[in-house]
Amino acid sequence: MIIVPLGVASATPTAVRHLPSVALWREGDVHLFDCGENAQMRMLQAGLKRSKIENIFISHFDMDHYSGLLGLITTLQLQRREKTLTIVGPKGIKEFVEWNVDFAKIDLNFKIEYVEVDEDFESQRVIDNDDYYVEARPLNHTSFCMGFRFQEKDKPGKVDADKAHALGITDDEQFKALKAGEDIKLEDGTLVKSYDIVGHPRPGDSFAYVSDTKYCPNSVKLAMNTNILYHETTFSDALADKAAETGHSTSSDAARVANEAQTKLLVIGHFSARYTNPFVLLREARAKFFPAWLATELRPIYTNPAQEKGIVKPKIQIKEMDEKQAMKPQKRKKFDKGGSSKRFRSRKSGPPDRRPRRDDSGERRKKRPERQSNDYGSNQGSSRPTKHITPRTPFDDFDRF
Ligand SMILES: [Zn+2]
Repeated sequence: MIIVPLGVASATPTAVRHLPSVALWREGDVHLFDCGENAQMRMLQAGLKRSKIENIFISHFDMDHYSGLLGLITTLQLQRREKTLTIVGPKGIKEFVEWNVDFAKIDLNFKIEYVEVDEDFESQRVIDNDDYYVEARPLNHTSFCMGFRFQEKDKPGKVDADKAHALGITDDEQFKALKAGEDIKLEDGTLVKSYDIVGHPRPGDSFAYVSDTKYCPNSVKLAMNTNILYHETTFSDALADKAAETGHSTSSDAARVANEAQTKLLVIGHFSARYTNPFVLLREARAKFFPAWLATELRPIYTNPAQEKGIVKPKIQIKEMDEKQAMKPQKRKKFDKGGSSKRFRSRKSGPPDRRPRRDDSGERRKKRPERQSNDYGSNQGSSRPTKHITPRTPFDDFDRF
């Protein structure tokens, strides 16, 4: 299971944060939790195919959580989707989508199945199939809002093939029966018990999505023993009053849910636009629960890195990845060329190398693009010739986070 935050802003998007949406990738399918404006673009940038969406879960009708739904449906129509799409949401979601599709005179190629949830429910399995189920529970927001738990069903244990062959089991049907937990009788009358051959069931992966709520016991129930809990953290502890007033959580509320639910990893998102640096929120959450991570748009979070790493690759660079990559070739050169390591002589140590090295200086300049880009051609206090660079607005860097 791979979780990809697509939008980590709260109601107001910022220059670097988009409206709420989180994608869950599992065995080639995508499940979307909320669908804020721009979710479909972020999917594209994250390397997730929109055609692979199976289910869309809308937590509530605050516009920021479903403003991207109609655009996404239109894209699926243009992609000539034929597969049924399931949309889960509060009662009224069907009317909203159908009215808009009618208004735009779109004759959808694909069927949409709706699972509408009434306000007075306690808990409901909104999706239930052979491999996984999704449970919804009401949260405590200023309007009706629900949280979700995506739970893979336990997988049967592994069959000890050597032991089975030694006992003379060769038939596929017999293997299936044993895997299903049934005991079988061989032709010679020997009884083979399932638990002798089949190992313990393997627990399924789990993910909880808790958005737009004050602290509430249902959040804990949804997140109980999950591998990943994605919890909203709109405000820092200093604004607890504001959080209570607007039906949102602080970093401490998120950490409290994580502690009570004994989740394995807390990921916080849905940050108020006032926090240009959400690390303030992370620090507060980490003081009370560890491990806690900041949701970063497009950066995948793996529940099983050994198997999943690299399956979902962002199509655009995110800032820290960019920096790491910039470091790599420099390091490699240093080792490859062994003897020539004085090319990378520390600036503080030793006298400057006076040999004329035009190529080298050119190369060096390329390696320090950040110094050059801050230059803007002014080049004050430097002996280097002025190099004219087109000034860039800070907005150029939108997607580099
Ligand atoms: Zn919200």
